[in-house]
Amino acid sequence: MSEMFKIKLPDGSVREMPHGSTPADVAAAIGPGLAKAALAARVDGELRDITRPFEGDSELALVTSKDEKDALELVRHDFAHLLAEAVQRLFPGTQITFGPATDDGFYYDFAPAPDRGPFTDEDLPVIEEEMRRIIAEDLPLVREVWKRQDVRALFEKQGERFKAEWVMELPEGEPITMYRSGNAENAWIDLCRGPHLASTGKLDPQAFKLTHVSGAYWRGDQNNPMLSRIYGTAWLNRKQLQEHLVRLEEAAKRDHRKIGKEMDLFHLQAEAHGSVFWHPNGFIIWRQLESYMRRKLDAAGYVEIKTPQLMDAKQWEKSGHWGKYRENMFVVPDEIPSTDDDAPVLSGDSDLMALKPMNCPAHVLVFKQGITSYKELPIRFAEFGCCHRNEPHGALHGIMRVRQFTQDDAHIFCREDQVIDEVQRFCDLLDDIYRELGFDKYAIKLALRPDQRFGSDELWDHAERELREAVTASGRATDEFGWEELPGEGAFYAPKLEFHLTDAIGRTWQVGTMQSDRVLPERLDATYIGEDGERHRPVMLHRAILGTFERFMGILIEHHAGKFPLWLAPVQAVVATIVSDADDYAREVVAKLKGVGLRAEADLRNEKINYKVREHSLAKVPLLLVVGKREAEEGTVAVRRLGSDEHQKMMSLDEAVDLFAAESVPPDVRQI
Ligand SMILES: [Zn+2]
Ligand SMILES: [Zn+2]
Repeated sequence: MSEMFKIKLPDGSVREMPHGSTPADVAAAIGPGLAKAALAARVDGELRDITRPFEGDSELALVTSKDEKDALELVRHDFAHLLAEAVQRLFPGTQITFGPATDDGFYYDFAPAPDRGPFTDEDLPVIEEEMRRIIAEDLPLVREVWKRQDVRALFEKQGERFKAEWVMELPEGEPITMYRSGNAENAWIDLCRGPHLASTGKLDPQAFKLTHVSGAYWRGDQNNPMLSRIYGTAWLNRKQLQEHLVRLEEAAKRDHRKIGKEMDLFHLQAEAHGSVFWHPNGFIIWRQLESYMRRKLDAAGYVEIKTPQLMDAKQWEKSGHWGKYRENMFVVPDEIPSTDDDAPVLSGDSDLMALKPMNCPAHVLVFKQGITSYKELPIRFAEFGCCHRNEPHGALHGIMRVRQFTQDDAHIFCREDQVIDEVQRFCDLLDDIYRELGFDKYAIKLALRPDQRFGSDELWDHAERELREAVTASGRATDEFGWEELPGEGAFYAPKLEFHLTDAIGRTWQVGTMQSDRVLPERLDATYIGEDGERHRPVMLHRAILGTFERFMGILIEHHAGKFPLWLAPVQAVVATIVSDADDYAREVVAKLKGVGLRAEADLRNEKINYKVREHSLAKVPLLLVVGKREAEEGTVAVRRLGSDEHQKMMSLDEAVDLFAAESVPPDVRQI
């Protein structure tokens, strides 16, 4: 073996480093600035401790805070350990278990000492302080390789029952890494794959915050002991943390469940877990959105169909859902229930049916009626399909995650030579719709083949290529559209395009999808007659733009913070009187507004005008027309717009009616 290792850097240059040297040594050799900035290393692609010696000739990329994704992951992982160490310093007798990084920080699960009971939010400030103390101590995080038996012996000696149990499930014979915080022999130590930063001092003491405590069962099993889970959010610096906290606050203000109540849009109750009760105000928005989508689909050459809610289990078997998807389906016996009080309601031996969890198989059945010629393709079947999926109660969230939902679903049946054009048309339609609905920014991602999949590699090469080509042809495979390929994230039968909206406070939501499918047409034996007179398989494109109406409306509520554009607002205008002398005039104004199609109401209550104004702005009514004696005499209205700084504007009634009629036209039919 040569005396030196050859270390290749990303710019192609090669440095010779003596055995035992580390990425940190390379950073120091390049310059003190980099030595300070480097947080970790990618060695032959693997993320590692910067202090871990090279094992041979290697390719090295140093990770700094500019590599935000890697850096955040590292920092959050370190904070989780820091939390565990701080808790054990402060509360001897607490047992440690697990603590991973999360999307915005980290958590750690503890078994509190028997005499102290679960942790509470009141404990958090003192734990934070202890964490800052450990950062100030700047303890090196030292990687050690242990044998499994030794790890177990140590944890047993320390009374760490959970860790001792867990380590025995790691494969025998494989080296196990432990991380010590500090060089002292009795320094705090935890089982960990790593990597970590070089020392606790690399963390920014102002870049984290412990947020809350909750209960969690050991290994997620409710037969196991209940642990205390402490959550924190962690970032690379104070500025990022502050921005995140502002975002959280803003998100809480916009919570669709809160606004849904304030605007009387919908409710949920335990008698129908995960199914929404839409109130008149909420369903007005739904209807506007549905009409809008219907116009867009009609114009884009789709035809609308409606398919059954319940289908025979045998049909779900044919489509493959019964085998792979049954646990998510609501199954219904095909029999008349007994009304005999002494007999069971159901016999238990009847045939089974299931509520549809998706519309796809039914659309193939419609396609298969009659004989289809190649000349008729593409056929674009749309359905606002109401589907049910059996999700555990704990997974449900407001109207964002529900068990009964309506998709803006469609399936395009086309020939192989039409796929790219169809996908491209879809991208154009989706772009148009997102912009008209008030979303200027969205990202497109291509989810590629997963490890477990149907079909040959050639088939996957082809399917991935055609989606990539279509997006490229539409001019959107660019940074502006956040174009990215996601290895391993496609469905088992096909790659998928995902469309992620960015909302007003910078959160992203995956809503649109486009998937090319050659499996279902095969399974259900769909064919068309080609130019050659032979039977051919159509390609089936599964696609959605909004995803589901329920979730999309949740996103719309939070995006607009309830201040809907005029065409979507449930009540568009309220005419409020200052004095009862103006009642008749107010009724006349409402009639005129209604006459041009506006959703308008009168507020003739004997209340102070400021009270009325406050109430209607809380209910997020976009237009408030105030009328008193003078307005009645002059035929004018005083207009206040929701969220406008302008106090109020006097207009003639006719002028106001014309203006609002024009403003309330949906974006797709607007002439301007
Ligand atoms: Zn760790
Ligand atoms: Zn489908």
